[in-house]
Amino acid sequence: MNILIIGSGVIGLSTAFELALSGHNVRVVTRNYEEGSSWVAGGMLAPYSEGLTGDLLRFSVESLSLYSDFIRRLEEVSRLNVYFNRNGILRLFLNEKEYEEARRQASDDYRNTDFEELSGKDLRSREPFLSGEPIGGILFKEEGNVDSEKLMDALLFACENLSVKILLDDIVEIEKKNGKVEGVKGLKDSYTADFYVFTTGAWSRPLLNLPVYPVKGQILKIKGPELEKVYYSNISYIIPKENYILIGATSEDAGFDSRPTVGGVKSLLEGAVRIIPSLAEAELLNVKVGFRPGTPDEKPVFEAGENYVISVGHYRNGILWAPLSARMVLDLVDKGIRSPYFDTFSGKRFSE
Ligand SMILES: Cc1cc2nc3c(=O)[nH]c(=O)nc-3n(C[C@H](O)[C@H](O)[C@H](O)COP(=O)(O)OP(=O)(O)OC[C@H]3O[C@@H](n4cnc5c(N)ncnc54)[C@H](O)[C@@H]3O)c2cc1C
Repeated sequence: MNILIIGSGVIGLSTAFELALSGHNVRVVTRNYEEGSSWVAGGMLAPYSEGLTGDLLRFSVESLSLYSDFIRRLEEVSRLNVYFNRNGILRLFLNEKEYEEARRQASDDYRNTDFEELSGKDLRSREPFLSGEPIGGILFKEEGNVDSEKLMDALLFACENLSVKILLDDIVEIEKKNGKVEGVKGLKDSYTADFYVFTTGAWSRPLLNLPVYPVKGQILKIKGPELEKVYYSNISYIIPKENYILIGATSEDAGFDSRPTVGGVKSLLEGAVRIIPSLAEAELLNVKVGFRPGTPDEKPVFEAGENYVISVGHYRNGILWAPLSARMVLDLVDKGIRSPYFDTFSGKRFSE
């Protein structure tokens, strides 16, 4: 089938990868393949540390379970190594009330995953470089961490190796008749296909008329001590990669303001040093800014039309949700199987 994907973030490229691998003729049309928030993301695969519940937790855990196989196939086709591990994430708490609530949630909602509660004393003996501020923690052993830049590179290489064409254009109009997409119009050209997938991230509102808006995030890249796992607290996330560490992230209602700010950098550095004091000696490499595709209820939006899918609004967890978002499109196109998540996360919830 001839398939056109609009947008080249992690959602668009993962979908292109799965469809092309399954033998479809795939083109991706994107305004700018470097502007996506996917290049900026912390890459935490963290359904439990993020405190997710209900449908969102189920969706996240299912996507996490696809990750190892997704990365294995991606590395094989791209011939690149993606930094990926399931070393766990240590969720740290700075006050008793927060810690109590998290422990209650873990024993109720997260009883199916492997986790370990750590007291302040445990933390000091097992993680000696932590400051005295965290009063306790929960180690979620099945959570993971992927290098988003390497993931995006591998997706681009894999798409290239599978003969996916990537075209540069800004899509400004969708031509629809009787519920079917007949084509899309860009500033440079018009495009038609048998099937369309819209994955336009934080920029989706004007094109798709859905309440998706940008949530600005600043994140720092530093070079510092070797760390084995992610340290996630309310004041910073410290995320080790192969040759560097990410310190994330601000969350700002600032439209598409792409400027790194002194205030943003200050809060991130202060937060990180309060958790691991020795990071004060680390080298600051750069500051990146991205736009999470937010929605009013912080859940994604999936729509399956007659010859199209919309897959947007992945907010804080698009890297985690990429394998399952892509699989939903593949199952629909290849087997006619309509995932129940198309109903759970339908955009109709905003008009009702
Ligand atoms: C600071 C920060 C930290 C994050 N940390 C994590 C994390 O630890 N774990 C996690 O799972 N997620 C994290 N996220 C969230 C994650 O980055 C996003 O949910 C995910 O990248 C969204 O992917 P996407 O493909 O939908 O959008 P994007 O990556 O933003 O890509 C959208 C693409 O669509 C294109 N486009 C838009 N409109 C048009 C148009 N009209 N025509 C043509 N092309 C168009 C854009 O050019 C872009 O290429 C983080 C985000 C930020 C900002």
